[in-house]
Formats: sequence, structure tokens, C-alpha cells
Amino acid sequence: MFVRVAIPIPSAQTFTYAVPETLVPAVAIGKRVLVPFGKRRVTGFIVEVLNEAVCDRKLREILDLPDPEPLFDKENLDFYEWISRYYLHPLGKVLGELLPGGISVQSERWLYRNDGAAAADQRLSVRQKAIIEHLDGCPKGILLSHLRRALGKNDLYGDLHVLESAGLVISEERLTRPAVRPKKAKWVELSPELPAGVNFTAKQSALIGFLRERGEMPVIALHNEILAQFGNHVPEARIGDFSGPLPPQRSASKDDCLSASARISSLQRSEEQCRKMSSGRRGHDFQSSHKTLRHTLAALRTLENKGVLRLFEKEVSRGPGPAPTIGKNENGIVLNEAQTTVLDGIRECLASGRFSPCLLFGVTGSGKTEVYLRAIAEVLGGDGGAIYLVPEIALTAQLLSRIGRRFPESEIAVLHSGISQSARYDQWKRIWQGEVRVVVGARSALFAPVRNLRLIVVDEEHDPSYKQDDRLRYNARDLALVRGRFSETTVILGSATPAVQSYFHAAEGRYRCLTLPARIDDRPLPRVEVVDLRTERDERGLTPLLTRTLTEAIRQTLAGGQQTLLFLNRRGFHTYLFCPDCGHVFSCPNCDISLTHHASERVLKCHHCDFTAQSAALCPSCKGSRVRSYGAGTERVEEEVKKLFPAARIARMDSDTTTRPGDSERILRGLDRGEIDILIGTQMITKGHDFPAITLVGVVAADASLNIPDFRAAERTFQILTQVSGRGGRGDQPGRVVIQTFTPGHYAVRRAQEHDYAGFYADELPFRRQLAYPPFSRLIGLHFSSLKKEEGKKAVTAFGARARELARTMIGGKAEVIGPAESPLARIRGRYRWQLLLKGKESRSLHLLAQRLMEETGRDGLEIQVDVDPVNFM
Ligand code: ADP
Ligand code: ZN
Repeated sequence: MFVRVAIPIPSAQTFTYAVPETLVPAVAIGKRVLVPFGKRRVTGFIVEVLNEAVCDRKLREILDLPDPEPLFDKENLDFYEWISRYYLHPLGKVLGELLPGGISVQSERWLYRNDGAAAADQRLSVRQKAIIEHLDGCPKGILLSHLRRALGKNDLYGDLHVLESAGLVISEERLTRPAVRPKKAKWVELSPELPAGVNFTAKQSALIGFLRERGEMPVIALHNEILAQFGNHVPEARIGDFSGPLPPQRSASKDDCLSASARISSLQRSEEQCRKMSSGRRGHDFQSSHKTLRHTLAALRTLENKGVLRLFEKEVSRGPGPAPTIGKNENGIVLNEAQTTVLDGIRECLASGRFSPCLLFGVTGSGKTEVYLRAIAEVLGGDGGAIYLVPEIALTAQLLSRIGRRFPESEIAVLHSGISQSARYDQWKRIWQGEVRVVVGARSALFAPVRNLRLIVVDEEHDPSYKQDDRLRYNARDLALVRGRFSETTVILGSATPAVQSYFHAAEGRYRCLTLPARIDDRPLPRVEVVDLRTERDERGLTPLLTRTLTEAIRQTLAGGQQTLLFLNRRGFHTYLFCPDCGHVFSCPNCDISLTHHASERVLKCHHCDFTAQSAALCPSCKGSRVRSYGAGTERVEEEVKKLFPAARIARMDSDTTTRPGDSERILRGLDRGEIDILIGTQMITKGHDFPAITLVGVVAADASLNIPDFRAAERTFQILTQVSGRGGRGDQPGRVVIQTFTPGHYAVRRAQEHDYAGFYADELPFRRQLAYPPFSRLIGLHFSSLKKEEGKKAVTAFGARARELARTMIGGKAEVIGPAESPLARIRGRYRWQLLLKGKESRSLHLLAQRLMEETGRDGLEIQVDVDPVNFM
């Protein structure tokens, strides 16, 4: 028997291995496999089982199969292979990334300088000399991957081979342990027949009593029962040999009657000793339960040796813990007419058993979530499963608690990057085994191996966080449709502000259109006022951070006992520090952007790398003392609001105040309980929260997202403004929104003011058509980065020329090549960056072109990432 194995390396190739006789019964598609690879051992995935090998070379044998059960099946594999082809990402890497992480065993190659041999009398190339020089600086050796990075070269094998043969370098392979292994717990059960003629102590018979009543149980649970029975204060040495009153027994047979008199005398002695010791050392009577657990285990082992019971290991699931409880209990909601119509439409799709893509376009607060939950209940009523995607799980505590109240906990798995790798692995297995049928999570939850998948919901489908922007650059919204096609399921894309692309497809009849045009109970959408920052001045003649209109609105809201949201898409105190004397801007030494001032910590931080510096009073360039800050961040807004409203209870929610798990949940709970009057935050506060007491929403600067070099800037701005406005007035009181902007006339701002999605779409579409941007074309982006500016630039220019040539010769001009150009963020973490865009009507030609380009390029020093359907152009 042979297997084809995908290995997580940067190559599209898969590899065939032989299976030794002993492993044949365990082989299956979807299992991980440990294989020899070059000089290393790596974990790959079995993607095909073959009875005959296609080549007649002698094949190497697989070494181990660590999984008791597969992680995916053939249908999942078809989907993964599609992803690999579409996103031009090797299958092995796709699997390595999408399957729960941290479970691979692999080996790493370490390199050492062989001190015995001098390099001087050898003929070495420049690069070989550079390797030797670097190794001389690492007396403890270096990982091959680190050496590659340090030298900015990927292909070092040839040179290393030369150096090893010459005896100058030694290489060694070391295995790394997997970060995650299945977790096991100790369980115990009674033997089917108790041995005759054994005498028991009181505690032993108590143990037996519990076990007879419960059947098998975890040792820890049994231990807790014993503690409850005999108390916590039993001196250490007496546990396990305690002779106390008999526990009640259901049926006392001859065999398990005890003879307390038959205690072994040596134990009596040790008991005596213990009593003496513990009276001398107070405090030791109170044993930690950890210690007493050891004694319970010892007692159980004694009984196991006597054939009374059996100890065994059972795998346990590590979960994310119980769902939080935020928000009201909404049992007994009766769907309104529009919701009923929509749900009927979804039922029809579900009943058809075919791929049915739908766009649910419903204004904020129109009851979309309620419809999703009903649709999921429908699927659970049959024998199907569902996936419910949300943009950022950390912000959806409210949704989780809503789901938790609706469905039994055992039916739901929550998957996101915030849970530990081990919990993720365990959840994955529960899903695979069909124990869990609903998966809720951020983008990666789309890949969960849900059995009999019938429904995929993509909530807030317009949200850019569905796009992953490193490694495998996929978009979960798009892939939801692909997965839906593979497994013939219903897919609901839902939003109050659909992506232009999604609305376009719905309008063209590719998706079924479902609409919820009004808020629940016909509550009005909030009244939106736009304040023109160009004409506003404070008493010093400067543009104010908070205009009179907004300040007055906050005052009224506070007076009415209602809550205010203040939104600004920039965290930190001031955007940047600047010296007016010499023009010095404090910027990051690794990245081409200015540093953000965080006043409370008195530091300057780079928001792209980890660089942090103390904020200085003097300009480091000219020693001037007039260093000033420009722009405004959330922290600055918070300070201003505190000054204006000292009595108000104010909280801030951005990535600085939500660094630990549970932080955002705590803030949202505070809002829910009315413990916060004013919440200031970044786009985190714009996402689907539903808090009825918020009546005022203030947008401090609407322009932040309008002035970025991205063809979707207007779309993003409209979406953000509409979404943040939608947080207001969801309760009985009407909402009010104040938007401060320098561009009040822009259609993105005007249409948001009028809550007019259709109007925005009508304004936006002609621009897209005219410039041939999506949805009128397809894009593939190529991102380049290099440690060396000049070398990198040269290589990128050559790449661009080749791209143009191939676009002409290979695909007959079916793609336009734009760039290469320096990226707007021209340097991040010390790497220089460029980008190139391939644009065309036809996905196939673009893919052919990109693939060919990637195959051709020698990548020396240049890192290239393919970005199919790019979202981020920074
Ligand atoms: P959306 O997801 O469109 O923003 P939600 O589903 O969160 O809207 O609904 C907004 C609020 O209205 C929630 O508090 C929800 O419990 C409530 N709600 C939803 N449907 C109904 C209904 N038919 N009758 C009464 N209240 C409803
Ligand atoms: Zn930086």
C-alpha cells in the first residue's frame, strides 16, 4: 500500500510513500502522518491511498500515524484542494493552516560551525563565506530557518552541502514536540465480578458504594464525593485506610461486606506516627486536595491490584467554557411579517437540498440575528449541521449569550483564534464525530468538518475581517459560497450594508434576495446630523476635537440618563508628535509611519511593529522644546470628554484596552448594565452590538477612512458610518447621530446620513465600471518585500517587466499589469515593500499568469506573496 502525502512546504508537489505492513490497517485519508523528508522528519497529511505506486523508484516508508481518527474526509479535501488552486497556495500549507494548529511533530535542522576546521585554506564563494561568518557568531548553533532569514536567502542547500562536505559545517536534526496532544483523564469502574474473600476498609467500601451507584466515573469526581463524605480535614496518612461509619449501600452482597477489624497492623502503626507528626506541626492536618487526590489514587490502585476495579484513561474535551450572559432574555419572540417572509424563503432553500446562495439585506436592528437563529434551529430540528460566521468573536459576547440561551451547550462549538490550540483541537474532533452540530466562530470556523452541513450564515458579510491578510490570504465570505457549492447547502450572506460586490451579484440574480426593510416595531432609524469641520472653530480659533453640536448632544443625553457612543477610527492619544522648529516627525525606525503617542503610558508606539520609545519633551533632532502633537486618537478623545463631563462614567474600547481575553466582554457587560455613560472606541464599537439605552452616537472624524489609497475607501466609509449610526436608538427612545467631517458633501457621508444604501450603491457603481474595478473585474495582488532597498527594487522592476511580457504573450493581453509601485506603507518591520496588481475580466487568465510568474521567479532576497481578490492595499 502507498499513500500520497501533502507536506506543509512552499511547493505545490505532493509526495508518495510506502506503508509498512503494521501501519496498513490505520491508514486513511485525512490523517496526519510522520514521514522522512530529506534529512528531516515532518508531519504531512494523507490525501490519497494507493494500491500501486506510480513510479518504480524505491519509496521511503511512513514512520507513524498519530491520529486515531482522520481530521477531514474526501468532501472536505475537495474543498481544500479548490482553495489551494484558487489562492495559489500549496495544498500542504493550506492543510497545515486550516486544520487545528500545534499538533504536528516535526524536526528542525540546526547548523554549527565545526571549530576544528579553518576556513582560510578553502576556496569559498562569497555566499559560503557569509554563512561561515554568521555561524562563527553563533557558538550554540542556529536554526536553518533563522540562518535563511538572517542572510535574506532562501536557497542555501547547495552552499550548505559544499560546506558540510568540506567539514566546515555540521548539521543536526532535532525533533520538536507537538504543542498539543489529546488530553486524557483517569476514570475508574468496578470489575464486573468482585473477587471473593477480600476484606475492605470503610473508605474502600465507600468507594465501592459510589462506583456501584454511578457506574464508571472520573477519578476526580469520585475523589470529590469521598471528600464530601469524609470531609477535608482527614490527616494525610489516614486517607485510604479510614475506618469510619458505613456509607449507605444499595445492595450488600456477601462479597463486599467489610471487616473493619481486619485492618493491617502496619497501617495502624503509620497512623499512629502520623498523628504524632501532625500534632507537632499545626496546619498539616489540612491537606491540600491535591495531596489527598494522590492518596485516593493510591487507594484505588490497591483495589485494582486486588481485582476489585479497573482504572483507565479516557480522552476529555477542552472547551471554551460556558457562554457569557449579556443582554435580555428574548424567549417568546414572535417573528414579524417581514421576518416570517424571509424565514419562509430560507426554509424553501433548505428544503431544496441544493446550493442556495442568499443575500439578507436588512437595516440595522431589523431582526436579522433572530432570523439566523430560527434558520439554525430549523437545521438542528433535522439531522443537519450549521456554521455561523461572525467578524470578530471577541466582540460577540452578546451573540454568544443569545445562542447559549437558545441551543443546548453540547450542540455548539465556538471556534476562534482566542481559544487555546488544545481546546481548538478537541472541538475539531467533537465536530468531526458529529457530537457538535453548530459551529460559531470567526473566519477560520468556516473550515470546521461539520457533518451533513446544511446552512452557512455569514453575519455582517461586508466586514473586512473576513479577509485573512497573511499566509493563506483567503476571504471567508467568498469561501462560504464555495463550500456551499461543494456541499449543496444554503448560504446566507447578511448585512445592513452589503459589500458592493455582493449586492451586485444579488441584483444580477446570482443570489436570492431577502430583505428586512424596517427596524423591529417600526422603530425609526436615528436622525443623523452632519457637522462641517471646515467652518467650526473653538475659542482659540482651532478646529475643535468635539464641536459644540456634539458636546451639547452629549450633555442632553447624560441629562436624560441615556448612553453615548463616541467613535474614532484611531487609537492612541495624538496621532503623532511633531517639532514645529525643524519639522522632525517622530517615526518608527523599522516602518515608514509616524509613531502614535500614548499619553497614559508616556510612550510612543508603532502600530505596525512592536517598537516603543519613551515620549520626549525635547526634539531629538534640533533640541527644540516646542514639540507638539497633531491629530486625535481615542485616548485623546477620552481625556477631552473627561474634562468636559467630569461626573460621567466613561470607558474606552480599543485594542489598547482589550489586550487580555475577557476585556471587551467586561466593557460590553458594563454598558449592558448601565454602568457606563459614555463609551469611546474604534471600529470595535461599530460591530453588531444591541444595547437599547444608547441614544446618541458621535463620529469624531468621518474622514479617517475616506483618505486611504484604496478603491473601496468610499464603500468602507459608508459602511462604517451606517453601522456605527445603527448602534443608536435600538430601544424605545429614538436615536440621534452626530457626524463630524471635513467632507460633508461626499456621497459616502450624505448617503449614510440618509440611511440610503441603494442610493450609495447607485453613486458608487458607475465609478467602479468606469475604472474597471470589481465587481467589473478581478484582481490579483502581488506583495513583495525585501531587507535590501536597492536590490529589492531591481528585482521587483524586473518582475514587473516579465509580468507585462507574459500578459501579452501567454494570455493574449487579457490582464492589465499595474505597477509595481512602492506600497503606501513603504517599510514595515525593517522590510521594504512594493506591490503589483494584475487586473482582468477573467479569473482564469489572471490565475494562469500569476501562477507562471510565481513558478519562474528565483526568489533570492525577495519575499513574494500572492493575494487573490485583495482587500488591503496598504
Ligand atoms: P439585527 O441583527 O438586524 O441588528 P436583531 O436580530 O439583533 O437585529 O434584533 C434587534 C432586537 O430586536 C433584538 O433585541 C431582538 O431580540 C429584537 N427582536 C428581533 N426580532 C423581534 C421580533 N419579531 N419581535 C420583537 N423583538 C424582536
Ligand atoms: Zn514599526
